[in-house]
Amino acid sequence: MGKINELQEINQCMVDRDDALERSLLHDGVVYYPLGGGAYTFKKNYVDYLLKQIDTHEVRISIGAQPNSSPHLGTLAVFNLAYALGYKMSVRSGFIKPEIFFEVVDTAPFETRTIEGVDYQISLRESKVADKYLEEYFEVLELLKRFTDIDYTVRRQKDFNLQPGIQRILRSVIGNRETIATILDPERGILKMRVACTACGLTDKDGVNNKYHGDSMESYCPEHGWFETSFEHEPERFEYNTPLRNLIRAIAYARDNQNEDIPFTWFRVTGSDYAGYYQEQLLYKAASTLGTPAHELPPIIYTPLITDWSGAKLSKSLYLKENAYKYLPPYLVEYAQFREQLGEQGMRKLFEEVSSWLDESHKLFRNYSVYYFMGLFGNE
Ligand SMILES: [Zn+2]
Repeated sequence: MGKINELQEINQCMVDRDDALERSLLHDGVVYYPLGGGAYTFKKNYVDYLLKQIDTHEVRISIGAQPNSSPHLGTLAVFNLAYALGYKMSVRSGFIKPEIFFEVVDTAPFETRTIEGVDYQISLRESKVADKYLEEYFEVLELLKRFTDIDYTVRRQKDFNLQPGIQRILRSVIGNRETIATILDPERGILKMRVACTACGLTDKDGVNNKYHGDSMESYCPEHGWFETSFEHEPERFEYNTPLRNLIRAIAYARDNQNEDIPFTWFRVTGSDYAGYYQEQLLYKAASTLGTPAHELPPIIYTPLITDWSGAKLSKSLYLKENAYKYLPPYLVEYAQFREQLGEQGMRKLFEEVSSWLDESHKLFRNYSVYYFMGLFGNE
């Protein structure tokens, strides 16, 4: 009897929820574009504004992703915006040669274990999960390359760390670690730099046991003990949490942009969840502490977020961990499904939509709900 009551209750909950959803989703289908903030200032010709900041013939547009799953619509929007930007820069200037630079964050955690009170991670790279999903990212890049004739380069974290000048940036971060750690980790004030144990791949996720010396760092593995890594000779082994990576990458790009011998200019395209307060507090403060003023940092173009019914961004990790978004068409949360249901034509439609955001800033300086895209792809 108790069981039946329970079931009836669950059923009623479902009916109530469906009714509420139906009521709350009623709208007139009209998109209003209030001008404000960036959209008010830039209105039209935003690409021309960006072109004025370039004095080279080549442009590198950097995008990044943690390949922990099939790319979702938010990631596809970032990739499409990078290509649309490169394409428009090339057409409007008549001479600029753009290239897309895909920075793969394969050092992001795949699995975390707590041993003796310390969090240790196994990264996407160590677990080989990165390789599994990267194929889908490459497919998206190939498709966009075909639409625009713009080449791309893929760079793993190891390759990023091997570029000239990284040692100098690492030394500067370590030398100022007390100030930098307080800015980047307001809660605990820890510099979240790490190196994976070469024997087992276990990595002190937050770098809590790290010991810093003049030009090296000592890390602790619970299985294999202490090991030392040199900034000078093995920079490729260093890994960072997101705010620290954001900082190191921005300074590396800024140095290239300031260097007259380097024939290209860096731009970044990322999701607008990193816009505003995040960069002001974590990037601009920290970079100027290390001697790179804000005006030297590479311009960042923010991609509108794709939000769920509540206005929260679609989250890849919640989709994976908590089986979320069951109410949405699967093509919104997995590229594999997007390809299956909407095909190349769907990607072309997305590219045209995203390109139009660059023509009128009121379409760029805002977010979009999943229902907007369900309307866009509705008749496929
Ligand atoms: Zn080990």
